[in-house]
Amino acid sequence: MERTPFYGQVRDRLIRYAKIDTQSDPKSSATPTTQKQFDLARVLFDELLAIGAKDVWLDERCCVVYAMLPSTRADGGGRPFGLVTHMDTAPDAPGANVRPWVLESYDGGDIVLNPEQGIVMSPKDFPNLLNYVGQDLILTDGTTLLGGDDKAAIAAVMTLAEHLLSHPKIEHGPIALAFTPDEEVGGLAKDLDLARFGAPVAYTLDGDYLGFYEDETFHASHAKVVFSGRSVHTGTAKGIMINACDLMTEWLSMLPRFEKPQFTEGREGFFHVISMRGACEHAETELIVRDHDRTQFEIREAYLQKCTDAINAQYPGAAALTITETYRSMKEVVDRHPYLIEHLCAAIRETGLTPQSIAFRGGTDGSALSQRGLPCPNLSAGYENAHGRFEYVPIPSMEKNVEILLRLAARFAADDA
Ligand SMILES: [Zn+2]
Repeated sequence: MERTPFYGQVRDRLIRYAKIDTQSDPKSSATPTTQKQFDLARVLFDELLAIGAKDVWLDERCCVVYAMLPSTRADGGGRPFGLVTHMDTAPDAPGANVRPWVLESYDGGDIVLNPEQGIVMSPKDFPNLLNYVGQDLILTDGTTLLGGDDKAAIAAVMTLAEHLLSHPKIEHGPIALAFTPDEEVGGLAKDLDLARFGAPVAYTLDGDYLGFYEDETFHASHAKVVFSGRSVHTGTAKGIMINACDLMTEWLSMLPRFEKPQFTEGREGFFHVISMRGACEHAETELIVRDHDRTQFEIREAYLQKCTDAINAQYPGAAALTITETYRSMKEVVDRHPYLIEHLCAAIRETGLTPQSIAFRGGTDGSALSQRGLPCPNLSAGYENAHGRFEYVPIPSMEKNVEILLRLAARFAADDA
């Protein structure tokens, strides 16, 4: 497969970034959840300075790196936009001692990731591999994740930045960059300072399939129900005892049988019990609630209140429901700025790909950012098998993303609305 001028840069960058352990920790309440995310933040900070980016800043308190590529138009114009990528890797697989390597011109067969341990990746198990026959792949040694999620995106963004900064004749408007921690543990880019970031709209680059984008995510809530019982000696309990565990199981039995993650797909929402524990005096359960459609989502939340009211009708005050917002779908916000998706689709199309969109069955940092006032759809980074030991990144996918970003920059440069 023919290499673009970006080949060496995206390859070397991903390999370099992947070797830095930046795994986040869902059990930590620190900011960021792990100090080692600073190791990559400092590398990016130095690199941004070296390639001549402006307003380069590392927030030492919360580990966010900022930089600006100023407008190159003679009048300083062009519509500004931003790019947001995350530095951490998922806690789901080992993230230390990553040993990335390059397989050139994949032949479509089994790939021996680790001859000593006999770890093989086969297209029989991972049929998506067959989409990349003839391409150069960056792989793991089968014992760790790669961290292409999201470092394949960081490699593409940094390569874009270097290219634009070293070719000032290419016209573009202001492009704001941010590199954030803790996406994999629900950080939702909460510490991204929108004023400092300096762009009114942005894109995250975080997803698997090249050419895919997302402008719709779930609406998401967390629900907790606490049941209070009345414990007395079991021998004399008749007519007196209220077992909180019974209340909880009764409440849970009211949830619709098939509206669960394991029975739903596409735009179908669900309830998902994530924990339950209890004894006679006290029981509690936690759930997550998800739906793409706002009305359906509100009906779901109201349904949980109905179940709770039904328990309280029998045992006054015995059940208490608390619902906490997790994130909201970005769609309503993004739809108010149609040029975001128009420019993105045009840029994808100009590189010869067909833009494809799915209603994402999860949330992205962009869901929360959109809610906070930074409309932020998501473009795929082009990694495969993320969060696991069989993760890989086809180098042409990163090259393609640099190209998409260049065309996106050109579109925003010519758009002064
Ligand atoms: Zn990610």
